[in-house]
Amino acid sequence: MERLQKILAQAGIASRRKCEELILSGQVEVNGVQVKTLGAKADPNEDVITVNGKPIETEAKLYIMLNKPKGVITSASDPQGRKVVSDFLSGIKQRVYPIGRLDYDTEGLLLLTNDGEFANLLTHPKHHVPKTYLATVDGVPHGEKLDQLRKGVELEDGMTAPAEVEYQDIQADNKESTIRITIYEGRNRQVRRMFDAVGHPVTRLKRVKFGEIGLQNLKRGGWRPLTPKEVAELR
Ligand code: URA
Repeated sequence: MERLQKILAQAGIASRRKCEELILSGQVEVNGVQVKTLGAKADPNEDVITVNGKPIETEAKLYIMLNKPKGVITSASDPQGRKVVSDFLSGIKQRVYPIGRLDYDTEGLLLLTNDGEFANLLTHPKHHVPKTYLATVDGVPHGEKLDQLRKGVELEDGMTAPAEVEYQDIQADNKESTIRITIYEGRNRQVRRMFDAVGHPVTRLKRVKFGEIGLQNLKRGGWRPLTPKEVAELR
């Protein structure tokens, strides 16, 4: 038996707080009986739980890591018929949703799950999950520019929070370099915009770490389930 708001949140209905509001406003029923108290518990495998008359789906929780190739949309379907991440999840019957997103041209570590509460937790701005990227950029940013990125740069949606930044590789002809950068926010196209702001546009971007979980040697386009230990570490 679990608290109703937890079951609803895990089924991806909304955040736990919003689910509490749904209960309090009388929109939730268990086996045909309206439940309006927050302490109420139910069995997600036995009871029929409905929100506004519609049964919620309670299924085994899946947590997956995908090495997203570039040229793929972080979405379950695309009206224009472009490749989407679910095209790479052969063998997975349940619907899973990306936790945050990677741009079309960004590759690397993308987590997916059918646990809505877990996804909300990790994408909530106050959670500050570190995300590490290898950014290949035009030219070689000088130490001063890296310091700017470390301290924070002004973007159109405000200053960025402090980041960790170090050289990973510098091409012999100095035309390109690869910088390892860890950010604690998840704004739209943030890493690309940060490097644009210091005059070194990104030519290739790969996420290699999410929280403490690394991509390691997962092949491009491949996926694997997270281990229970990895899921626990992210919570
Ligand atoms: N920052 C970006 O610019 N793009 C991504 O896909 C992720 C982080």
